[in-house]
Amino acid sequence: MGICKKCRKITDLYCWHCQTGICYDCVIDPEHALHYIGSYEEWVDNLEPRPVICGLTNKELTPEDEVIRFKNMQLFLLSAIDEYGKSKPPESTLEGFTIPNTNEPMVPPPDDQSRLAKQIREKLKRYPWIRHLIEKQITQSDLERGKNLFAEPLVKSESILSNKSDLTESDQYSHRAVPRKVATTKTPSTEQTLQDPTVDPHALKSHHTHLREDNMVIQIQITKNINEGQ
Ligand SMILES: [Zn+2]
Ligand SMILES: [Zn+2]
Repeated sequence: MGICKKCRKITDLYCWHCQTGICYDCVIDPEHALHYIGSYEEWVDNLEPRPVICGLTNKELTPEDEVIRFKNMQLFLLSAIDEYGKSKPPESTLEGFTIPNTNEPMVPPPDDQSRLAKQIREKLKRYPWIRHLIEKQITQSDLERGKNLFAEPLVKSESILSNKSDLTESDQYSHRAVPRKVATTKTPSTEQTLQDPTVDPHALKSHHTHLREDNMVIQIQITKNINEGQ
């Protein structure tokens, strides 16, 4: 175990070229793009510099090449990975698309939110043979994260709608400070209606009282959702 020189996180990765510890976030910094990353122990045992080659084509990689680095630190030409992915059965699952010559999936698990993991997903998302699987993984993990936040407030707002009479006086007035823009979409403006000479002022007053009551329920529902959804 060592420490990432840049961000001081504990890491077991070591850049052989820079001779420094490096983590799964900082490894995507451009200066390490073509550096051999292994463990410190490996480096101590074998001081010979390793050529930086594509793990599929054995071509020596240059800064002009578009490459992808997987979690096991192996580098590949992105075009070679595309050919490799296309050769897999189309019904393969995300786990089925393994890093060449290993059993590890190319796409890290959803809870891996390191910059390297995000970069792998971004680069692979260009390819139709895996794009839908990555998008599904992202959507599912977003849903998992959002589930606890939103499930309860939705249930509560339904009960508010069907049970207007349960609202107490203090409940209603504690929610008056809702921004007008949110709550009054269908209410005619007071100025407009008052300028209309055909409108009976008594009927108008009662009309506005009803509108206020209806709006109050909507306001309370919106405010509850906003307050509890955060
Ligand atoms: Zn770092
Ligand atoms: Zn380096």
